Amino acid sequence: MKPGTLIGAADTKAFSEQLYRIREIHIEVEAILQSLAALQDDVPCARCTSVCCREVMCRESVDSDFLRFVLGPRVEDYEVNDGWHVPGSGCRLGYGRPLVCYEFFCERFDAQDAAQLRQLSRAFKTLYADVFAGRHMLAVADIRRITANKLDRIHNRLETLRERANAALRRSLGEKLGLQATSRPVDPPGD
Ligand code: SF4
Ligand code: SF4
Repeated sequence: MKPGTLIGAADTKAFSEQLYRIREIHIEVEAILQSLAALQDDVPCARCTSVCCREVMCRESVDSDFLRFVLGPRVEDYEVNDGWHVPGSGCRLGYGRPLVCYEFFCERFDAQDAAQLRQLSRAFKTLYADVFAGRHMLAVADIRRITANKLDRIHNRLETLRERANAALRRSLGEKLGLQATSRPVDPPGD
């Protein structure tokens, strides 16, 4: 373990195939949500002077059994003082972020057309509700105890969400490209 990093090594527990499939789609959905956020016309975080990331927020990624599983060996790179945040460049995590990091609750996003992004993020969080003893996936102490039926349900919901999010990403990209095409200066007629 490097000095200043975590807290404990990556888990060496054996997880089911179902959980690995869920992990794979979960990471894909995170990537799509991040791409959608980056496509906002004016991403406020880029010039924010009061960045909301705090170690106390990052910490869920290493406290939650599910997020530790999603992170895998990356969990060992966690910095005890700064979590995943690097001043000036942002979050070091491409996947395994706490779901609160996808809520875009900041009022500076209100000027953006972020409604769809927020809906998808909310769906991402709620599909993991009530998976074991009434608990949310991120609050289950040992995700290996979740039944196969519940894992199936999560898997199906994740697949549906991935389709929705992909469709939204295709639409956003299409709109961007359409806008860029119409704003490109027209070449003057040749001599
Ligand atoms: S979400 Fe809001 S407060 Fe947080 S970094 Fe972005 S602009 Fe700043
Ligand atoms: S976005 Fe990254 S750095 Fe910011 S609170 Fe979430 S995990 Fe931490």
